[in-house]
Amino acid sequence: MTQAASVVSAKNLCLTYQANDAPVHALSNVDLDVKKGDFVSFIGPSGCGKTTFLRVIADLEKKTSGDISVNGMTPEDARKARAYGYVFQAPALYPWRTIEKNISLPLEIMNYAADDRRKRIAEALDLVGLTGFEKKFPWQLSGGMQQRASIARALAFDADLLLMDEPFGALDEIVRDHLNEELLKLWSRTNKTICFVTHSIPEAVYLSTKIVVMSPRPGRVTDIIDSPLPRERPLDIRETPEFLEIAHRVREGLRAGHSYEH
Ligand code: ADP
Ligand code: MG
Repeated sequence: MTQAASVVSAKNLCLTYQANDAPVHALSNVDLDVKKGDFVSFIGPSGCGKTTFLRVIADLEKKTSGDISVNGMTPEDARKARAYGYVFQAPALYPWRTIEKNISLPLEIMNYAADDRRKRIAEALDLVGLTGFEKKFPWQLSGGMQQRASIARALAFDADLLLMDEPFGALDEIVRDHLNEELLKLWSRTNKTICFVTHSIPEAVYLSTKIVVMSPRPGRVTDIIDSPLPRERPLDIRETPEFLEIAHRVREGLRAGHSYEH
């Protein structure tokens, strides 16, 4: 069997922020290999470097030392090749632009032709189930629908890699469950590679093929779990012993990271 290609590969990756008082070691010796088609979740308490890691992949932040490649390139070259779509924690939609105009904005900035933009917007809205909401303004949609719109915006480039920073963190559990199911369907339909930040153990276990457990001060990886769950996952898989076993291991990893501080 041939090995799938690495989409993100980090070796001994370190990033230290030079703050005014003392340096902050946001990432310390991170080793990680994300393969094409993986769904990787990053879980850990606030301040363990999850956002920093996504930002290094996206070339929004520069490593201090070590190695990082994205699609076999430097993050800068990958960014220029439009290797990824980025979904931020808050929907970050412009209230004065309709949904289609919000999705269109990055495409306009990158000089996509009008016809191409229309086609991409229609496809992205279809993927997130928002067809028919093109002319609505963000404030006319529920929180969950706004977050779908921001996912559509990230999908419009049709990049193979999606970076998602706690996209459902602000939503209630019922909406989150639903969007988790939808995201899994979208992932299997589009065959994308997803790096997903979350605070929720059930969300991480439900969604992921690989779970990266992190801990703070210094920000580091304490456990990497390759999920034995099948790719096809009904919501009630969350009550199976296999699921609960993985959730248990994540919890142990989080606890071990915590006791390190004391
Ligand atoms: P997480 O997303 O896991 O909550 P972050 O990656 O945002 O963590 O932050 C990791 C650590 O780096 C935290 O201690 C945070 O305060 C610090 N940090 C993040 N961004 C900066 C910055 N621009 N300058 C200084 N420190 C930062
Ligand atoms: Mg964060």
